Amino acid sequence: MRITVCGAAGGEVTGSCYLVETTRARVLVDCGMFQGRGSAEARNSDLGPVDPVRVDAAVLTHAHLDHCGRFGLLGKRGYRAPIHATPATVDFARLVLEDSARIQENDAARENKYREREGRPPVTPLYAVEDLIAIGPCVRTLGYGEQREIADGISIRLFEAGHILGSASVEMVIEDRGTSRTVVFSADIGRWGTPILRDPDPPRRADIVFLESTYGDRDHRPAEATLKEFREIIHRAIWQKEKILIPAFSIGRTQLILHALSGLIREGTLPRFPIYLDSPMAIKATKLYSQHADLFDAEAAADLERRAGVEDVPGLRFIESPEESRELNDRHEPCIIIAGGGMCDGGRIVHHLRHHVWRRGVAVVMVGYAATGSLGHALIRGDKQVRIFRDMVPVRATIHTLGGFSAHAGQSELIRWMEPMAAGSPSVYLTHGENPQRKALAEKIKQRWDLSVALPELNQTFEIG
Ligand SMILES: [Zn+2]
Ligand SMILES: [Zn+2]
Repeated sequence: MRITVCGAAGGEVTGSCYLVETTRARVLVDCGMFQGRGSAEARNSDLGPVDPVRVDAAVLTHAHLDHCGRFGLLGKRGYRAPIHATPATVDFARLVLEDSARIQENDAARENKYREREGRPPVTPLYAVEDLIAIGPCVRTLGYGEQREIADGISIRLFEAGHILGSASVEMVIEDRGTSRTVVFSADIGRWGTPILRDPDPPRRADIVFLESTYGDRDHRPAEATLKEFREIIHRAIWQKEKILIPAFSIGRTQLILHALSGLIREGTLPRFPIYLDSPMAIKATKLYSQHADLFDAEAAADLERRAGVEDVPGLRFIESPEESRELNDRHEPCIIIAGGGMCDGGRIVHHLRHHVWRRGVAVVMVGYAATGSLGHALIRGDKQVRIFRDMVPVRATIHTLGGFSAHAGQSELIRWMEPMAAGSPSVYLTHGENPQRKALAEKIKQRWDLSVALPELNQTFEIG
């Protein structure tokens, strides 16, 4: 039996995908999109060692694009096997994939207009909505803690990952030629005490662990300090009559920010002021959050009884149409605009940044991870000028990074998650992290438990029999 790491390897965070092979079966864990500028587009069309028609089953850990984004491509290339995921992940992934397919179709159509003029052959989108329709019947929902044999000799159990609603870590028991191995795929691990979500629930034992390492080198600031800083940023912007732009992933971070704002306004530490959620997908995701309230932690469930839903925030307005979104540019008032995407590589946030990032007094609040090469990364790094569309734009806005809103575990939380499994001396493979982060985490794990730790390269195969 062997496992190939087909994405989120070699010091990269995006493109999560594992291929598990035995003499009897082939199974995928996630099939995500590579993100960040540059070569991401070309790389996404290459599925590496994955032959979609020969895969027997797939597991999807959660609905973020870097984990589910290439299921559409699998569909296009003939994949028709079952896809197992929690019911919430199925709902959110449908939203994310439809949005992604539409973006692929639009991008291809735009490119083909140029090509037609220049007499060049047209391109086809990475995948289209029809490819998603093809894999629709493949979906099988699986609750947390339920055991299921998904292929000959391969069974799984999902554990709460506490990262976004519906997110799961996978415990996989693989049997082949008389040997049995328990492999755990952490997927993206959240944080203990995150509002709305339940705490991560690590599996208890493993022979092999594939562990994410996004923030393997540091701990985030505590939630209270983050909330205090957030409140100060907002007060300053209101005083200066300027806007606050928050690039946020539609699923997870957006709802966390709304929850924080709702709390601050209701307790009276923030005045009521306009908050715009400028992303059709984030609006849908926020409503879906309320529909999956059965997965909320106790506090959020109690809170929801006093409110009409996660979207019930004083002063919140949904911005659906592009026209309304453009109108926000001309409006000069202190307000918060939350728009996708989180890495500022696409989505409506890019327009808002172009119109505002050169203005002194404007605040840009970065609340999540931004891959190297993305506009978000350049802003976090403190670049004085950034390229937006075709223009170089000076950065005069204040860029704030609020790590405390992160949906990813920091180093101590990753260690805490590993704790129950460490006693069984598993081999650890660190993925989903840039090299400085995963090297720091590798050191920490070796120091603490003296385990063998490997840092897989892209498409590297490990024999585990
Ligand atoms: Zn994620
Ligand atoms: Zn991820």
